[in-house]
Amino acid sequence: MTNNQYDELHRYLLNAANVRGELVRLEDSLQKIVHSYEYPLQIQYLLSEMAAATCLLTAILKFKGEIGIQIQSKGPVSYAVINATDDFTLRGVARWDETLSELPEAFQDLLSDAVMVITITPEEGERYQGVVPLDKPTLAECLEGYFTQSEQLATKVILMTDLQHADRARSAGMLLQVLPTQASNTDVDQDTEFEHVSKLAETLSDKEMFELPVNDILYRLFHQEEVEVFSPQEVTFACSCSKQRSADALRNVDKAELLKIVEEDGAIKMNCQYCHAEYIFDSVDVEAIHAGHFTETRKDQ
Ligand SMILES: [Zn+2]
Repeated sequence: MTNNQYDELHRYLLNAANVRGELVRLEDSLQKIVHSYEYPLQIQYLLSEMAAATCLLTAILKFKGEIGIQIQSKGPVSYAVINATDDFTLRGVARWDETLSELPEAFQDLLSDAVMVITITPEEGERYQGVVPLDKPTLAECLEGYFTQSEQLATKVILMTDLQHADRARSAGMLLQVLPTQASNTDVDQDTEFEHVSKLAETLSDKEMFELPVNDILYRLFHQEEVEVFSPQEVTFACSCSKQRSADALRNVDKAELLKIVEEDGAIKMNCQYCHAEYIFDSVDVEAIHAGHFTETRKDQ
């Protein structure tokens, strides 16, 4: 049943319609995100959708850097975040009110009074941040709002999640967007064409999305269109944490305070919230960090 076209982002063009498309399906890359805590199903669902959405966004990056989708809410889920790099490595985490015995089902109840913050951090140049209210019933519709606002281009987003198999979470995303070169002319045909291919995309069932090979999906939807498909890009899980980064963070904490912790607890332990890696610092490390010459390669670590 499963085929090997998971953890890949596919780009394509519907040339006659002047629309570009993306299709992403996640499986292996998703497990370390969805199963890194004992997340309730609703949060697994949210993180899965956000991971697919982040891939769709990442494919728009025109430079090297990082992209993050963060949801902040006053509801039971206080925040959820997925970070990605331009070469499609993903990581993510969510925090919720663990005192609740049950979480609400609906997206809007789970995330009441919520915003989605999209942060784009180029390796060189200014960081960009866009804030979108989460005021629509689905994440896909909220993202469409973001694209329409930030890119001024008509955009269709479809997100799907399959959590039927407890240890094999899967999610998928599809994006259709009017090509920028055509967006400036207010050609009615362009709108009609986009409307048409969007409607076609909406006919895709969950079963087709998760079980058909990518080319069959595109054929099934757009066989009357002229489709140009590009080679896919691999999506993987990766965490950018390191002992050095943790050390850099400790530089901002008072040295006496750090030494007190070492004295009381034996060491400073820092845990990565994304991948659970643990970094341990002793008093020699603390001295080195504050003297500005800490290096990760100390022999006894
Ligand atoms: Zn990590």
